[in-house]
Amino acid sequence: MSSNYEQELNVALLAVQRATQLTKSVFHQNAKGTLNKSDASPVTIGDFGAQALIISALQANFPNDEIVAEEEAKDLRENSQLRDLVYGLTQEAKLSDATAEQTLGGPIASADKMLDIIDKGDSKGGNSGRIWAIDPIDGTKGFLRGGQYAVCLALMVDGDVKVGVLGCPNLPVSDSEPLREGIGADASDEEGKFGVLFSAVQNQGAQSRPLSKAGLTQPHPINMKPISNVSDATFCESVEAGHSSQGDAASIAQKLGITKPSVRMDSQAKYASIARGAGDLYLRLPVRKDYVEKIWDHAAGDLIVREAGGQVTDVEGKRLDFSLGRTLKENKGVIAAPREVHGRVIQAVGEVLGAKQ
Ligand code: AMP
Ligand code: MG
Repeated sequence: MSSNYEQELNVALLAVQRATQLTKSVFHQNAKGTLNKSDASPVTIGDFGAQALIISALQANFPNDEIVAEEEAKDLRENSQLRDLVYGLTQEAKLSDATAEQTLGGPIASADKMLDIIDKGDSKGGNSGRIWAIDPIDGTKGFLRGGQYAVCLALMVDGDVKVGVLGCPNLPVSDSEPLREGIGADASDEEGKFGVLFSAVQNQGAQSRPLSKAGLTQPHPINMKPISNVSDATFCESVEAGHSSQGDAASIAQKLGITKPSVRMDSQAKYASIARGAGDLYLRLPVRKDYVEKIWDHAAGDLIVREAGGQVTDVEGKRLDFSLGRTLKENKGVIAAPREVHGRVIQAVGEVLGAKQ
């Protein structure tokens, strides 16, 4: 197998692109009230469908690879109506490019096969071999409100992230569009709006390209915005106050002399937004001591930001360690920043968090 991960990147991009067709369709059908026949929430339906489509594509191309994914098919096995609804959506999410569909192994053969496919995401993770990490819908609250969410896929080899892809259907296509304060709230996934596909391969840089319903569109290199004075920075954080301490973020911003308000958005769209230079910093500050971050919430974003010229660590300045299983058990929080100011940000984080102990 080639070592530049060309095939892995191509499959991952197309798999995420196809999965976003499904999540977008779930959003619109829900808005129109046509998903009502099942009791499940649109998030559940979209999660299962997107996970099934991505794993199916991975299995068609890399049958020996392991997969760490968020969902398991138990609920679908107990609810045939929901199973059939999700299966139908996977069939509809076809890309209108025959070569792309062929690369992805075509549609899933049957509803029962789909259940087994979903359950292939049960790898324990770890530090050896090829393991993919999938978050089929990251940012579920954002998805529901028509705000930011991401379909996330990364390949780790021996615990190191080699390929990362983020499908962000509600981010502006243009890399140079600055972040609006309301971006997490009202992006409303309008019909005809395509969103963006971000990707990176280790040592090969990061790229973005418009999402499409067919084959892959032309990519552009992305880079973090050069920043000489950290006080000019725009920082991103979670919408959910339970996922990241907004109070600590405000204190850290104050220490750094940052006066611009934070931009709140759900999902790994935060990593993507700073990687393309639309924002500068991503602060994720632990709210609860016992919460351990999941690898599928960070693997793709970590690589994309680092390949765009950024540094990603936990609140103590340690690199995120994806080699320890399904969680980042040796890390707390996330601090992502341009390399030249990362040390200064970590210092402020240490002062604010240290003063609380
Ligand atoms: P975000 O959209 O950045 O707020 O992050 C969404 C992710 O936060 C979800 O995919 C969850 O896995 C994760 N999450 C759930 N509970 C917590 C928590 N207490 N602290 C940090 N992250 C959490
Ligand atoms: Mg998630």
